[in-house]
Amino acid sequence: MSERSEGGVRTVYGILGWPVAHSRSPAMHEAGFRALGIDAAYVPFPVAPERLAEAVHGLRALGVAGANVTLPHKQAVMAHLDAVEPEAQAIGAVNTILREGDRLIGANTDAPGLVRALVEAGFEPSGARVVVVGAGGAARAAVVGLAQAGAASVAIAARRLDRAQLLADDLGEVAGRSSLEAVELTSSRQVLSSADLLVQATSATLDGGPDAEAFARALPLDALPAHAVVNDLVYRPRRTAVLTAASARGLGTVDGLGMLLHQGVIAFERWTGRSAPVDVMREALERR
Ligand code: NAP
Repeated sequence: MSERSEGGVRTVYGILGWPVAHSRSPAMHEAGFRALGIDAAYVPFPVAPERLAEAVHGLRALGVAGANVTLPHKQAVMAHLDAVEPEAQAIGAVNTILREGDRLIGANTDAPGLVRALVEAGFEPSGARVVVVGAGGAARAAVVGLAQAGAASVAIAARRLDRAQLLADDLGEVAGRSSLEAVELTSSRQVLSSADLLVQATSATLDGGPDAEAFARALPLDALPAHAVVNDLVYRPRRTAVLTAASARGLGTVDGLGMLLHQGVIAFERWTGRSAPVDVMREALERR
């Protein structure tokens, strides 16, 4: 039997982005709602940056039950919410809005989503030595998620050392007992030589092409130990140039679809209070 919200009105969730038409989240969440008999819709909301405040107020007024937030609003949305959870505050980005009565609370499910994806793929983050390549929003989520999952150390390798150092300084407190270190990407051989996991968190492999291939060639994957696993957070294409190069070296690989799936699964569970139908949601993502 279908679950209906008060008064028999269909529950609405959505995603705020600009552009947002490409998002795979509506297909993933609507498949999840259908599988559990929840009468809810998940709507892509294209929101221009200058209209973000109005859009967030609109969520309250329209009774939208929860939302995701994607580029370019993940940082800016924080100023318009009633509260932001400490983990999202530390990462500096909100990808999920939860509703408590009339209050909107910002959360970040990217960080725990990445950890769930790695564990599902058979990688145990606790005690691991990790290298995160990149110093943008995805790198911040990866550092926080892996540090909180008990990684022994996280080295942040970026093409600009000052950017990597900024992350290490900003995230030191939330990293708890994990030691954080900043290195320049071109000088990363030493940290790679003792790493259990490399997380590719730049946008360099997005959409493939000669630049992605040049980036993969320049990455010193040969310095990694034979047991190391390489995870590219980029999921378009699914087999990125970095994953192809890692496979050619005999290293284990994890693609970026797992993180996309599990950030959605965690949001779904927090919105509905139900266990998400993970396999159904995965199939919907893979079909897109
Ligand atoms: P972002 O904030 O724009 O950061 C991009 C980072 O990539 C910056 O550190 C940038 O360095 C670096 N970069 C770009 N091209 C590079 C190159 N050729 N060499 C070295 N570094 C390079 O983007 P983001 O939000 O972190 O997202 C990064 C990627 O992660 C996206 O493309 C997205 O596909 C993926 N992602 C996946 C998920 C998922 O669920 N799987 C979630 C979030 C993001 P500079 O600062 O020096 O420019």
